[in-house]
Amino acid sequence: MAGPPKPDPKKADAGKKPAEDSQEQPDVEQVLFQGPLFGRESNLKTNAKLVQAALVPVKQMMSEALSRRAHTVLMEPREGRVSIRFVIDGIPFPAAAVPGQKGVAMVQMLKLLAGLDPNDRKTAQAGGIKAEYDKLPFQLMVESVPAGGGAERVRIKIENRKVLRQKPSEVGLPESLKLKIRDFTSSRSGVILICGPPDSGVTTLSIVALHSVDPYLYSVYNLADMRGKELINVTEFKPEPGHDMELTFDRILRREADVLFLNPLTSPQDAQTIFQYSDRLSFIMEIPANTPIEAMQKLISWVGVDEVVKGLKCILTQKLIRKLCDDCKQAFRPNPLLLKKLGLPPETSVLYRAPVPPPPEDVKAQTVEELCADCDGVPYHGRVAAFEMLEMTDTMKEVIAAGGDPEAIRRQMTADGQTTLQKDAIRLVADGKTSLEEIQRTFNPGGSGAKKKPMKARPKPPAQG
Ligand SMILES: [Zn+2]
Repeated sequence: MAGPPKPDPKKADAGKKPAEDSQEQPDVEQVLFQGPLFGRESNLKTNAKLVQAALVPVKQMMSEALSRRAHTVLMEPREGRVSIRFVIDGIPFPAAAVPGQKGVAMVQMLKLLAGLDPNDRKTAQAGGIKAEYDKLPFQLMVESVPAGGGAERVRIKIENRKVLRQKPSEVGLPESLKLKIRDFTSSRSGVILICGPPDSGVTTLSIVALHSVDPYLYSVYNLADMRGKELINVTEFKPEPGHDMELTFDRILRREADVLFLNPLTSPQDAQTIFQYSDRLSFIMEIPANTPIEAMQKLISWVGVDEVVKGLKCILTQKLIRKLCDDCKQAFRPNPLLLKKLGLPPETSVLYRAPVPPPPEDVKAQTVEELCADCDGVPYHGRVAAFEMLEMTDTMKEVIAAGGDPEAIRRQMTADGQTTLQKDAIRLVADGKTSLEEIQRTFNPGGSGAKKKPMKARPKPPAQG
């Protein structure tokens, strides 16, 4: 069970003994690989040569990625090398460019660790590695895709193996939205949908929505495949083999269930069945769509306007926005015009922004990187979420009944005072959690300024040539 003995990071640090192996970095805790996921096996013994060549560099790469809070690692062939980038808080930072052969060996090693076939470079493969870092359990989801000429692109998604953030307060869901979800699920009827672009935390948000339900008043059942993750205060329900959705819902109704959590909604047939039962059960699930309005359009095409008006309660989404570094953010007094433009109360006395770097001609001044050890001058650390909830108010029902034109839905959301991403992002600015510049960058990707002002990466230029 226990892996090789792991040095206590604090002790190792106190010792200050330089690592004997010059490749080891004494200040970075090392990740432990604990075997492939999904019942696969990896035969390290028959690949001893590969292990000898590439295990240490792979370990170092993943350890550094974890120490820098990366949530994704990208490995891509580029000009005879393998370029490695760490995606931190949604922004890719160049991490290294390793010579071709070593890079190829690292890619093979990762596949081997994930129980995939390291020698098959012509087929897209996907697997996972169980890992531990800094006493926390992780899973590293490895995906390899052929990139032509025998080269491969690899994407490693780093996920915490235990869902730690489950409660509405843990992701910053405003109390008002939590209470709305509570209200929507209190009548044992209606459908709540959660949507968002890939990698926007949709699954986490759907779990948060589920945990907004009062578990002491209502019985909540899970029918979704959580891939080993555990839901708190929720009863797992396994459908009988051979039972379709209707039979399963009938069975669960006999148990006096109130709220059901389902797998993402992907077919018109499932949607029709769910809406058929939405007068007897509350449902919470994801729907693949980038925005609530897109989800609404999809839903209308699947079940029709009448069912949507009758059964839908709300569609929830979120956008992750980088959080200003608490150690180096700068306060400023906003002028009344700016406050008015943002719709903030005139008595708002302070907002925050990224620290202003010293002028380039001042050679003696410390750079922002030197000033802040916490964020390396990025100057953002972690992410916060802005939320949007498209609610089926009586007026919204009329808009949907009239056909659900996207522009009309948008207008009605504003007229109803519903929570929109832009409005909620301003709340984050007012709370000092992020900056106006970051909001602009997030909402206008590729727009003015966003591309011209590259985020500063930790200086680690890849060796050229
Ligand atoms: Zn900082």
